[in-house]
Amino acid sequence: MTANALDKTPVTLLGLGAMGTALARTWLAAGHPLTVWNRTAARADGLAAEGAAVAATAAEAVAANRLVIVCLLDDDSVGAALDGADLTGKDVVNLTTTTPAQARERAAWATARGARYLDGGIMAVPPMIGVPETGGYVFHSGSPELFEEHRETLAVPAGARFVGADPGHAALHDVALLSAMYGMFAGAAHAFALIRKESIDPAGFAPLLTEWLTAMAAPHVSQTADQLGSGDYTTNVVSNLGMQTAGVPAFLATAEQQGVSPELLLPYFGLMRRRLAEGSPQEDLTGVVDLLLR
Ligand code: NDP
Repeated sequence: MTANALDKTPVTLLGLGAMGTALARTWLAAGHPLTVWNRTAARADGLAAEGAAVAATAAEAVAANRLVIVCLLDDDSVGAALDGADLTGKDVVNLTTTTPAQARERAAWATARGARYLDGGIMAVPPMIGVPETGGYVFHSGSPELFEEHRETLAVPAGARFVGADPGHAALHDVALLSAMYGMFAGAAHAFALIRKESIDPAGFAPLLTEWLTAMAAPHVSQTADQLGSGDYTTNVVSNLGMQTAGVPAFLATAEQQGVSPELLLPYFGLMRRRLAEGSPQEDLTGVVDLLLR
């Protein structure tokens, strides 16, 4: 152990898949003493050569250090790995992707076993881990005391953002951002399909699409947030619901003419039309949010 390592919080890490291994390397590189465990032991060989201590069981790895990071496949694997480990006095940070409900249940489960608990949602892929300029980060929620105490250590692999004491909120933020991303991917797929059979080069079209999505995203998102906050969907409206809904037939006719299925767009257009029927043509598109709530 180097002198530097004496100043660094020792870390236990359960799970050496693609993500766990990337996380592990950053703590080792930053000089944190690291104990690792993986169900398939051979996956720890490379890290052992780089200086990690390898525990034979998850319980042994948990016993080694107070701060225990978990990055396994899913909530079931977390339950399987921690079953039988003594969590008394441990600080458990679970970076495994789960639902908000699973995160809350796991928090109650860990707390009942004497641990402090923080849940995490990783907004990065393994190549972004340990590379701050890629902008990757991790949402954390749960014990504020745990987060404050270990903030520096947690920020070693990627930025650490605390989103509240509710342990389900990290997973919820994670899924909310990814859900919006899939909506954007759906729009991009439709746009590429529209030009697919024409003499338009997708490579030349791509920067136009990126530029447009980028220009539209920030004003739309902040306007929606402002209107949800105020409850007034008619202030500062630039392109109102009546006008935008009147444009729907042109979008559907163009799809038809280009031989493109409108199936990705129809659900959203349907919601716009329903809101127009129930609301006011002067509104923004914000009312669609309310229609989604059951
Ligand atoms: P991998 O599939 O590469 O690794 C899965 C890990 O879970 C392995 O360590 C595996 O062990 C372990 N595991 C699976 N089932 C069990 C079990 N029943 N008991 C004990 N251990 C088990 O996944 P990643 O490392 O990529 O992902 C880990 C977590 O990080 C996931 O929740 C994922 O959603 C999340 N994440 C991943 C991202 C990515 O791009 N990779 C991005 C953001 C989040 P073994 O080696 O023995 O199979």
